[in-house]
Amino acid sequence: MQTFPILDSNFSFASRWDAVRKQAHAHLGEHVFNSWIRLLNLVGESEGVVTLEASSSFVQDWVQTHYSEQLLVFFQQEAPEIKDLKIVVSKAPLQPVAEPSSWREPAAGNDGDGIVSGEFISSPLDPRFTFDNFVVGKPNELAHAAARRVAESTSVPFNPLFLYGGVGLGKTHLMHAIAHHIQKVRRNRRVLYLSAEKFMYQFIRALRYKDTVAFKERFRSVDVLMIDDVQFIGGKESTQEEFFHTFNALVDQNHQVIVSADKSPSDLEGMEERLRSRLGWGLVADIHPTTYELRLGILQAKCEQLQHTMPKKILEFLAHKISSNVRELEGALIRITAHANLVGREINLEMVQEVLRDLLRAHDRTLTLEEIQRKVAEYYNIRISDLHSPKRARSVTRPRQVAMYLAKSCTSRSLPEIGRSFGGRDHTTVLYGVKKIEELMLEDASLHEDIDLLRRTLEAW
Ligand code: ADP
Ligand code: MG
Repeated sequence: MQTFPILDSNFSFASRWDAVRKQAHAHLGEHVFNSWIRLLNLVGESEGVVTLEASSSFVQDWVQTHYSEQLLVFFQQEAPEIKDLKIVVSKAPLQPVAEPSSWREPAAGNDGDGIVSGEFISSPLDPRFTFDNFVVGKPNELAHAAARRVAESTSVPFNPLFLYGGVGLGKTHLMHAIAHHIQKVRRNRRVLYLSAEKFMYQFIRALRYKDTVAFKERFRSVDVLMIDDVQFIGGKESTQEEFFHTFNALVDQNHQVIVSADKSPSDLEGMEERLRSRLGWGLVADIHPTTYELRLGILQAKCEQLQHTMPKKILEFLAHKISSNVRELEGALIRITAHANLVGREINLEMVQEVLRDLLRAHDRTLTLEEIQRKVAEYYNIRISDLHSPKRARSVTRPRQVAMYLAKSCTSRSLPEIGRSFGGRDHTTVLYGVKKIEELMLEDASLHEDIDLLRRTLEAW
Protein backbone atom coordinates (compact mmCIF):
# COMPACT_ATOMS: atom_id res chain seq x y z
CA MET A 1 0.00 0.00 0.00
CA GLN A 2 1.31 3.35 -0.93
CA THR A 3 1.31 6.06 1.74
CA PHE A 4 1.45 9.79 1.28
CA PRO A 5 3.00 12.20 3.68
CA ILE A 6 0.40 14.34 5.45
CA LEU A 7 0.60 17.80 4.03
CA ASP A 8 0.29 19.89 7.08
CA SER A 9 0.34 23.23 5.35
CA ASN A 10 -2.51 25.62 5.66
CA PHE A 11 -3.02 25.25 1.98
CA SER A 12 -4.26 21.72 2.34
CA PHE A 13 -6.13 22.76 5.42
CA ALA A 14 -8.36 25.01 3.41
CA SER A 15 -9.98 22.01 1.80
CA ARG A 16 -10.73 20.62 5.26
CA TRP A 17 -12.36 23.85 6.21
CA ASP A 18 -14.48 23.44 3.15
CA ALA A 19 -15.46 19.98 4.24
CA VAL A 20 -16.27 21.27 7.73
CA ARG A 21 -18.45 23.98 6.30
CA LYS A 22 -20.24 21.38 4.28
CA GLN A 23 -20.85 19.32 7.42
CA ALA A 24 -22.06 22.37 9.28
CA HIS A 25 -24.42 23.17 6.47
CA ALA A 26 -25.82 19.65 6.49
CA HIS A 27 -26.10 19.23 10.26
CA LEU A 28 -26.85 22.68 11.56
CA GLY A 29 -29.18 23.69 8.79
CA GLU A 30 -29.39 26.38 6.20
CA HIS A 31 -30.37 29.08 8.58
CA VAL A 32 -27.66 28.62 11.17
CA PHE A 33 -25.19 28.23 8.39
CA ASN A 34 -26.19 31.45 6.71
CA SER A 35 -26.51 33.37 9.94
CA TRP A 36 -23.27 32.34 11.55
CA ILE A 37 -20.97 29.89 9.83
CA ARG A 38 -20.86 31.90 6.67
CA LEU A 39 -19.45 34.77 8.70
CA LEU A 40 -16.36 32.79 9.65
CA ASN A 41 -13.08 32.64 7.79
CA LEU A 42 -10.30 30.18 8.24
CA VAL A 43 -7.10 31.79 9.47
CA GLY A 44 -5.08 28.60 9.69
CA GLU A 45 -4.00 25.64 11.77
CA SER A 46 -1.00 25.36 13.97
CA GLU A 47 -0.02 22.62 16.41
CA GLY A 48 -3.46 21.13 16.45
CA VAL A 49 -5.27 24.39 17.03
CA VAL A 50 -7.53 25.75 14.31
CA THR A 51 -8.08 29.48 14.25
CA LEU A 52 -11.22 30.94 12.73
CA GLU A 53 -12.01 34.57 12.28
CA ALA A 54 -15.43 36.11 12.96
CA SER A 55 -16.72 39.32 11.41
CA SER A 56 -17.51 40.87 14.80
CA SER A 57 -17.12 40.20 18.48
CA PHE A 58 -20.79 39.49 18.57
CA VAL A 59 -20.47 36.72 16.02
CA GLN A 60 -17.38 35.50 17.83
CA ASP A 61 -19.23 35.20 21.15
CA TRP A 62 -22.23 33.59 19.64
CA VAL A 63 -20.37 30.99 17.65
CA GLN A 64 -18.09 30.30 20.59
CA THR A 65 -20.96 29.52 22.94
CA HIS A 66 -23.28 27.83 20.49
CA TYR A 67 -21.37 26.10 17.76
CA SER A 68 -17.70 25.77 18.60
CA GLU A 69 -18.00 22.26 20.03
CA GLN A 70 -19.80 21.01 17.01
CA LEU A 71 -17.33 22.69 14.73
CA LEU A 72 -14.48 21.04 16.59
CA VAL A 73 -16.10 17.64 16.14
CA PHE A 74 -16.46 18.29 12.42
CA PHE A 75 -12.81 19.28 12.21
CA GLN A 76 -11.77 16.16 14.09
CA GLN A 77 -13.65 14.02 11.61
CA GLU A 78 -11.52 15.51 8.90
CA ALA A 79 -8.27 15.66 10.84
CA PRO A 80 -8.10 13.67 14.10
CA GLU A 81 -4.99 15.53 15.22
CA ILE A 82 -7.02 18.68 15.85
CA LYS A 83 -7.29 19.37 19.59
CA ASP A 84 -8.82 22.77 19.81
CA LEU A 85 -10.63 25.57 18.07
CA LYS A 86 -10.02 29.27 18.54
CA ILE A 87 -12.27 32.04 17.27
CA VAL A 88 -10.86 35.54 16.91
CA VAL A 89 -12.38 38.78 15.66
CA SER A 90 -11.30 39.79 12.20
CA LYS A 91 -9.75 43.19 11.69
CA ALA A 92 -10.80 43.62 8.09
CA PRO A 93 -14.41 43.39 7.03
CA LEU A 94 -15.22 39.93 5.92
CA GLN A 95 -15.71 39.09 2.28
CA PRO A 96 -18.49 36.66 1.63
CA VAL A 97 -17.11 33.27 0.81
CA ALA A 98 -18.43 31.50 -2.22
CA GLU A 99 -19.67 28.03 -1.48
CA PRO A 100 -18.88 25.17 -3.82
CA SER A 101 -21.91 24.96 -6.03
CA SER A 102 -22.33 21.24 -5.45
CA TRP A 103 -23.71 21.67 -1.98
CA ARG A 104 -25.27 25.03 -2.21
CA GLU A 105 -28.97 24.95 -1.74
CA PRO A 106 -31.20 27.66 -3.02
CA ALA A 107 -31.26 29.69 0.16
CA ALA A 108 -34.51 31.52 0.69
CA GLY A 109 -32.85 33.87 3.11
CA ASN A 110 -29.92 34.64 0.93
CA ASP A 111 -31.28 37.67 -0.77
CA GLY A 112 -28.07 39.22 -1.85
CA ASP A 113 -25.15 40.74 -0.11
CA GLY A 114 -23.22 43.77 -1.11
CA ILE A 115 -23.25 45.57 2.16
CA VAL A 116 -20.42 46.22 4.53
CA SER A 117 -19.72 42.78 5.89
CA GLY A 118 -21.46 40.87 3.15
CA GLU A 119 -24.07 39.46 5.41
CA PHE A 120 -27.08 37.80 4.00
CA ILE A 121 -29.69 39.91 5.70
CA SER A 122 -28.77 43.14 3.94
CA SER A 123 -30.26 44.23 0.69
CA PRO A 124 -27.89 45.09 -2.12
CA LEU A 125 -26.89 48.69 -2.62
CA ASP A 126 -27.23 50.42 -5.93
CA PRO A 127 -23.75 51.68 -6.85
CA ARG A 128 -25.23 54.72 -8.62
CA PHE A 129 -27.02 55.96 -5.51
CA THR A 130 -24.23 58.08 -4.08
CA PHE A 131 -24.12 61.60 -2.69
CA ASP A 132 -22.13 62.64 -5.75
CA ASN A 133 -25.01 61.65 -7.98
CA PHE A 134 -27.66 63.32 -5.89
CA VAL A 135 -28.83 66.69 -7.15
CA VAL A 136 -29.74 69.03 -4.33
CA GLY A 137 -32.52 71.58 -4.60
CA LYS A 138 -34.97 73.28 -2.32
CA PRO A 139 -37.37 70.32 -2.09
CA ASN A 140 -34.74 67.89 -0.83
CA GLU A 141 -32.26 70.23 0.82
CA LEU A 142 -33.08 69.30 4.40
CA ALA A 143 -33.21 65.57 3.78
CA HIS A 144 -29.91 65.73 1.93
CA ALA A 145 -28.19 67.78 4.64
CA ALA A 146 -29.46 65.42 7.33
CA ALA A 147 -28.34 62.36 5.41
CA ARG A 148 -24.89 63.83 4.89
CA ARG A 149 -24.61 64.71 8.55
CA VAL A 150 -25.48 61.19 9.61
CA ALA A 151 -23.04 59.72 7.10
CA GLU A 152 -20.16 61.99 8.03
CA SER A 153 -20.62 62.24 11.76
CA THR A 154 -18.62 60.12 14.14
CA SER A 155 -21.35 60.46 16.74
CA VAL A 156 -25.10 60.12 16.40
CA PRO A 157 -26.45 63.57 15.52
CA PHE A 158 -30.13 62.69 15.75
CA ASN A 159 -31.89 59.45 16.32
CA PRO A 160 -33.72 58.32 14.37
CA LEU A 161 -33.37 60.14 11.10
CA PHE A 162 -36.78 59.83 9.54
CA LEU A 163 -36.93 60.58 5.81
CA TYR A 164 -40.28 60.81 4.15
CA GLY A 165 -41.80 61.86 0.86
CA GLY A 166 -43.71 60.64 -2.16
CA VAL A 167 -42.63 57.88 -4.44
CA GLY A 168 -39.55 58.36 -6.61
CA LEU A 169 -38.25 61.44 -4.82
CA GLY A 170 -34.92 60.04 -3.66
CA LYS A 171 -35.42 58.42 -0.25
CA THR A 172 -33.78 55.16 -1.21
CA HIS A 173 -31.07 57.03 -3.07
CA LEU A 174 -30.17 58.98 0.08
CA MET A 175 -30.15 55.89 2.28
CA HIS A 176 -27.85 54.04 -0.08
CA ALA A 177 -25.65 57.12 -0.26
CA ILE A 178 -25.28 57.05 3.52
CA ALA A 179 -24.34 53.38 3.43
CA HIS A 180 -21.83 53.92 0.61
CA HIS A 181 -20.23 56.77 2.44
CA ILE A 182 -19.86 54.94 5.73
CA GLN A 183 -18.59 51.91 3.89
CA LYS A 184 -15.90 54.05 2.31
CA VAL A 185 -14.66 56.04 5.26
CA ARG A 186 -15.40 53.91 8.30
CA ARG A 187 -15.21 50.38 7.17
CA ASN A 188 -15.42 48.82 10.60
CA ARG A 189 -18.89 50.12 11.21
CA ARG A 190 -21.60 47.62 10.63
CA VAL A 191 -24.29 49.06 8.44
CA LEU A 192 -27.46 47.22 7.72
CA TYR A 193 -29.82 48.42 5.02
CA LEU A 194 -33.03 46.67 4.17
CA SER A 195 -36.59 47.32 3.18
CA ALA A 196 -39.26 46.98 5.83
CA GLU A 197 -40.63 44.18 3.73
CA LYS A 198 -37.41 42.27 4.04
CA PHE A 199 -37.25 43.01 7.72
CA MET A 200 -40.62 41.40 8.06
CA TYR A 201 -39.62 38.48 5.92
CA GLN A 202 -36.51 37.85 8.00
CA PHE A 203 -38.53 38.11 11.16
CA ILE A 204 -41.13 35.62 10.00
CA ARG A 205 -38.39 33.28 8.94
CA ALA A 206 -36.81 33.56 12.36
CA LEU A 207 -40.14 32.76 13.95
CA ARG A 208 -40.57 29.76 11.73
CA TYR A 209 -37.10 28.47 12.51
CA LYS A 210 -37.54 29.32 16.19
CA ASP A 211 -34.49 31.44 15.84
CA THR A 212 -35.71 34.76 17.12
CA VAL A 213 -32.92 35.13 19.63
CA ALA A 214 -30.33 35.11 16.87
CA PHE A 215 -32.51 37.40 14.81
CA LYS A 216 -32.78 39.92 17.62
CA GLU A 217 -29.12 39.81 18.41
CA ARG A 218 -28.10 40.26 14.83
CA PHE A 219 -30.20 43.34 14.36
CA ARG A 220 -29.20 44.78 17.68
CA SER A 221 -25.51 44.43 17.07
CA VAL A 222 -25.29 46.78 14.09
CA ASP A 223 -23.95 50.33 14.29
CA VAL A 224 -26.32 51.75 11.72
CA LEU A 225 -29.69 50.26 10.88
CA MET A 226 -31.65 51.53 7.89
CA ILE A 227 -35.18 50.41 7.20
CA ASP A 228 -36.64 51.61 3.93
CA ASP A 229 -40.37 52.09 3.32
CA VAL A 230 -41.42 51.45 6.89
CA GLN A 231 -45.07 52.13 5.99
CA PHE A 232 -45.05 48.57 4.76
CA ILE A 233 -45.31 47.21 8.30
CA GLY A 234 -48.46 49.24 8.94
CA GLY A 235 -51.08 46.84 10.26
CA LYS A 236 -48.54 44.05 10.73
CA GLU A 237 -48.63 43.85 14.48
CA SER A 238 -46.00 41.36 15.45
CA THR A 239 -43.47 42.77 12.98
CA GLN A 240 -44.13 46.21 14.37
CA GLU A 241 -43.65 44.97 17.86
CA GLU A 242 -40.33 43.43 16.93
CA PHE A 243 -39.25 46.51 15.05
CA PHE A 244 -40.17 48.67 18.00
CA HIS A 245 -37.96 46.64 20.32
CA THR A 246 -35.08 46.52 17.87
CA PHE A 247 -35.42 50.23 17.37
CA ASN A 248 -35.40 50.97 21.10
CA ALA A 249 -32.48 48.68 21.75
CA LEU A 250 -30.39 50.43 19.11
CA VAL A 251 -31.36 53.92 20.15
CA ASP A 252 -30.63 53.07 23.78
CA GLN A 253 -27.14 51.96 22.79
CA ASN A 254 -26.76 55.18 20.86
CA HIS A 255 -26.60 53.39 17.52
CA GLN A 256 -27.91 55.22 14.50
CA VAL A 257 -31.31 54.30 13.10
CA ILE A 258 -32.53 55.67 9.77
CA VAL A 259 -36.04 55.09 8.57
CA SER A 260 -37.88 56.12 5.43
CA ALA A 261 -41.57 56.19 4.69
CA ASP A 262 -44.05 57.71 2.30
CA LYS A 263 -45.68 59.71 5.08
CA SER A 264 -44.70 61.57 8.22
CA PRO A 265 -44.60 59.52 11.45
CA SER A 266 -47.89 60.96 12.65
CA ASP A 267 -49.63 60.14 9.36
CA LEU A 268 -48.48 56.54 9.12
CA GLU A 269 -51.47 54.27 8.92
CA GLY A 270 -51.92 51.10 10.91
CA MET A 271 -48.99 52.03 13.09
CA GLU A 272 -49.09 51.71 16.83
CA GLU A 273 -49.16 55.02 18.61
CA ARG A 274 -46.01 54.42 20.66
CA LEU A 275 -44.07 53.50 17.52
CA ARG A 276 -45.33 56.54 15.64
CA SER A 277 -44.35 58.82 18.43
CA ARG A 278 -40.97 57.17 18.86
CA LEU A 279 -40.24 57.54 15.14
CA GLY A 280 -40.73 61.25 15.43
CA TRP A 281 -38.27 61.76 18.25
CA GLY A 282 -35.22 62.42 16.15
CA LEU A 283 -35.04 64.48 13.01
CA VAL A 284 -37.98 64.23 10.64
CA ALA A 285 -36.98 65.44 7.18
CA ASP A 286 -39.46 65.52 4.35
CA ILE A 287 -38.69 65.53 0.66
CA HIS A 288 -41.11 67.78 -1.17
CA PRO A 289 -42.32 67.22 -4.71
CA THR A 290 -39.73 68.34 -7.24
CA THR A 291 -39.71 71.85 -8.61
CA TYR A 292 -39.07 72.70 -12.22
CA GLU A 293 -35.54 73.87 -11.35
CA LEU A 294 -34.70 70.65 -9.56
CA ARG A 295 -36.05 68.55 -12.39
CA LEU A 296 -33.97 70.50 -14.87
CA GLY A 297 -30.90 70.11 -12.65
CA ILE A 298 -31.44 66.37 -12.37
CA LEU A 299 -31.88 66.03 -16.13
CA GLN A 300 -28.64 67.91 -16.75
CA ALA A 301 -26.78 65.77 -14.24
CA LYS A 302 -28.15 62.56 -15.74
CA CYS A 303 -27.13 63.65 -19.22
CA GLU A 304 -23.61 64.25 -17.98
CA GLN A 305 -23.62 60.83 -16.36
CA LEU A 306 -24.82 59.21 -19.54
CA GLN A 307 -22.33 61.35 -21.44
CA HIS A 308 -25.09 62.51 -23.66
CA THR A 309 -25.57 65.99 -24.94
CA MET A 310 -29.12 66.99 -25.31
CA PRO A 311 -30.52 70.31 -26.49
CA LYS A 312 -31.42 72.56 -23.57
CA LYS A 313 -34.86 73.02 -25.07
CA ILE A 314 -35.57 69.33 -24.81
CA LEU A 315 -34.51 69.20 -21.19
CA GLU A 316 -36.73 72.16 -20.41
CA PHE A 317 -39.60 70.50 -22.18
CA LEU A 318 -39.17 67.33 -20.16
CA ALA A 319 -38.80 69.21 -16.90
CA HIS A 320 -42.05 70.98 -17.63
CA LYS A 321 -43.98 68.01 -18.84
CA ILE A 322 -42.94 65.24 -16.52
CA SER A 323 -43.42 66.52 -13.05
CA SER A 324 -44.58 63.45 -11.18
CA ASN A 325 -41.34 61.99 -9.94
CA VAL A 326 -37.68 61.58 -10.70
CA ARG A 327 -37.98 57.96 -11.67
CA GLU A 328 -40.29 58.83 -14.57
CA LEU A 329 -38.03 61.65 -15.57
CA GLU A 330 -35.08 59.29 -15.73
CA GLY A 331 -37.14 56.77 -17.62
CA ALA A 332 -38.05 59.37 -20.22
CA LEU A 333 -34.44 60.37 -20.69
CA ILE A 334 -33.34 56.79 -21.11
CA ARG A 335 -36.04 56.11 -23.64
CA ILE A 336 -35.05 59.12 -25.68
CA THR A 337 -31.33 58.35 -25.66
CA ALA A 338 -31.93 54.67 -26.38
CA HIS A 339 -34.15 55.55 -29.28
CA ALA A 340 -31.68 58.08 -30.64
CA ASN A 341 -28.87 55.53 -30.39
CA LEU A 342 -30.80 52.72 -31.98
CA VAL A 343 -32.38 54.59 -34.80
CA GLY A 344 -29.58 57.09 -35.17
CA ARG A 345 -32.06 59.87 -35.16
CA GLU A 346 -31.49 63.43 -34.10
CA ILE A 347 -33.07 64.40 -30.79
CA ASN A 348 -35.56 67.15 -31.39
CA LEU A 349 -38.90 68.12 -29.98
CA GLU A 350 -40.86 66.23 -32.58
CA MET A 351 -38.96 63.03 -31.98
CA VAL A 352 -39.31 63.38 -28.21
CA GLN A 353 -43.05 63.89 -28.46
CA GLU A 354 -43.32 60.83 -30.59
CA VAL A 355 -41.16 58.59 -28.42
CA LEU A 356 -42.88 59.67 -25.23
CA ARG A 357 -46.37 59.85 -26.63
CA ASP A 358 -47.97 57.54 -24.08
CA LEU A 359 -46.15 59.09 -21.15
CA LEU A 360 -47.05 62.61 -22.18
CA ARG A 361 -50.62 61.70 -22.79
CA ALA A 362 -50.88 60.33 -19.26
CA HIS A 363 -49.83 63.74 -18.03
CA ASP A 364 -52.19 65.63 -20.30
CA ARG A 365 -55.28 66.62 -18.49
CA THR A 366 -57.26 69.69 -17.77
CA LEU A 367 -55.75 72.10 -15.38
CA THR A 368 -57.48 72.11 -12.01
CA LEU A 369 -57.60 74.83 -9.39
CA GLU A 370 -55.89 72.43 -6.97
CA GLU A 371 -53.05 72.04 -9.43
CA ILE A 372 -52.60 75.77 -9.67
CA GLN A 373 -52.61 76.10 -5.91
CA ARG A 374 -50.15 73.28 -5.54
CA LYS A 375 -47.72 74.76 -8.06
CA VAL A 376 -47.98 78.23 -6.62
CA ALA A 377 -47.48 77.01 -3.06
CA GLU A 378 -44.52 74.97 -4.20
CA TYR A 379 -43.05 77.88 -6.08
CA TYR A 380 -43.28 80.26 -3.14
CA ASN A 381 -42.43 77.59 -0.65
CA ILE A 382 -45.55 77.96 1.43
CA ARG A 383 -48.25 75.47 2.29
CA ILE A 384 -51.33 74.93 0.22
CA SER A 385 -53.30 75.46 3.43
CA ASP A 386 -51.82 78.98 3.63
CA LEU A 387 -53.63 79.76 0.41
CA HIS A 388 -56.90 78.68 1.98
CA SER A 389 -56.35 80.23 5.38
CA PRO A 390 -57.41 83.70 6.51
CA LYS A 391 -53.75 84.61 7.14
CA ARG A 392 -52.94 88.10 5.98
CA ALA A 393 -49.16 88.11 6.19
CA ARG A 394 -47.54 89.50 3.04
CA SER A 395 -45.65 86.25 2.54
CA VAL A 396 -48.93 84.48 1.91
CA THR A 397 -51.26 87.18 0.55
CA ARG A 398 -49.13 87.82 -2.51
CA PRO A 399 -48.85 84.16 -3.53
CA ARG A 400 -52.56 83.79 -2.87
CA GLN A 401 -53.30 86.64 -5.25
CA VAL A 402 -50.94 85.17 -7.81
CA ALA A 403 -52.79 81.87 -7.58
CA MET A 404 -56.13 83.64 -8.02
CA TYR A 405 -54.79 85.50 -10.99
CA LEU A 406 -53.56 82.29 -12.61
CA ALA A 407 -56.84 80.56 -11.82
CA LYS A 408 -58.69 83.31 -13.61
CA SER A 409 -56.36 83.51 -16.58
CA CYS A 410 -55.57 79.85 -17.16
CA THR A 411 -58.96 78.25 -16.55
CA SER A 412 -62.55 79.02 -17.40
CA ARG A 413 -63.72 78.89 -13.80
CA SER A 414 -65.91 81.71 -12.50
CA LEU A 415 -64.90 84.14 -9.77
CA PRO A 416 -67.27 82.63 -7.17
CA GLU A 417 -65.95 79.16 -7.99
CA ILE A 418 -62.38 80.35 -7.59
CA GLY A 419 -63.31 82.11 -4.34
CA ARG A 420 -64.76 78.91 -2.92
CA SER A 421 -61.60 76.97 -3.67
CA PHE A 422 -59.55 79.52 -1.71
CA GLY A 423 -61.07 78.74 1.65
CA GLY A 424 -64.52 80.05 0.83
CA ARG A 425 -63.60 83.61 -0.10
CA ASP A 426 -65.98 86.06 -1.66
CA HIS A 427 -65.81 86.66 -5.43
CA THR A 428 -64.98 90.33 -4.81
CA THR A 429 -61.84 89.25 -2.97
CA VAL A 430 -60.82 87.22 -6.01
CA LEU A 431 -61.51 90.13 -8.31
CA TYR A 432 -59.44 92.42 -6.10
CA GLY A 433 -56.57 89.92 -6.14
CA VAL A 434 -56.65 89.54 -9.90
CA LYS A 435 -56.66 93.31 -10.45
CA LYS A 436 -53.89 93.79 -7.93
CA ILE A 437 -51.61 91.37 -9.74
CA GLU A 438 -52.40 92.90 -13.13
CA GLU A 439 -51.35 96.25 -11.76
CA LEU A 440 -48.22 95.03 -10.03
CA MET A 441 -47.06 93.15 -13.09
CA LEU A 442 -46.80 96.43 -14.97
CA GLU A 443 -44.17 97.78 -12.63
CA ASP A 444 -42.58 94.71 -11.04
CA ALA A 445 -40.46 92.81 -13.54
CA SER A 446 -39.58 89.99 -11.21
CA LEU A 447 -43.22 89.34 -10.37
CA HIS A 448 -43.88 89.33 -14.09
CA GLU A 449 -41.20 86.73 -14.53
CA ASP A 450 -42.54 84.59 -11.69
CA ILE A 451 -45.94 84.55 -13.27
CA ASP A 452 -44.61 83.79 -16.71
CA LEU A 453 -42.71 80.87 -15.37
CA LEU A 454 -45.65 79.59 -13.38
CA ARG A 455 -47.94 79.94 -16.34
CA ARG A 456 -45.54 78.04 -18.56
CA THR A 457 -45.23 75.29 -15.99
CA LEU A 458 -48.99 75.03 -15.69
CA GLU A 459 -49.61 75.12 -19.38
CA ALA A 460 -47.07 72.43 -19.94
CA TRP A 461 -49.44 70.06 -18.16
P1 ADP B 1 -37.91 56.76 -3.48
O1 ADP B 1 -37.12 55.78 -2.67
O2 ADP B 1 -38.14 58.04 -2.74
O3 ADP B 1 -39.16 56.19 -4.04
P2 ADP B 1 -35.61 56.64 -5.21
O4 ADP B 1 -34.55 56.98 -4.22
O5 ADP B 1 -35.71 55.21 -5.58
O6 ADP B 1 -37.02 57.17 -4.73
O7 ADP B 1 -35.39 57.54 -6.51
C1 ADP B 1 -35.95 57.21 -7.76
C2 ADP B 1 -34.94 57.49 -8.86
O8 ADP B 1 -34.74 58.88 -8.97
C3 ADP B 1 -33.58 56.89 -8.56
O9 ADP B 1 -33.02 56.42 -9.75
C4 ADP B 1 -32.78 58.06 -8.03
O10 ADP B 1 -31.41 57.94 -8.32
C5 ADP B 1 -33.39 59.23 -8.76
N1 ADP B 1 -33.37 60.47 -7.97
C6 ADP B 1 -34.28 60.88 -7.07
N2 ADP B 1 -33.94 62.07 -6.55
C7 ADP B 1 -32.77 62.41 -7.14
C8 ADP B 1 -31.90 63.55 -7.03
N3 ADP B 1 -32.18 64.58 -6.22
N4 ADP B 1 -30.79 63.57 -7.79
C9 ADP B 1 -30.53 62.56 -8.64
N5 ADP B 1 -31.27 61.47 -8.78
C10 ADP B 1 -32.41 61.39 -8.05
MG1 MG C 1 -37.55 53.81 -2.22
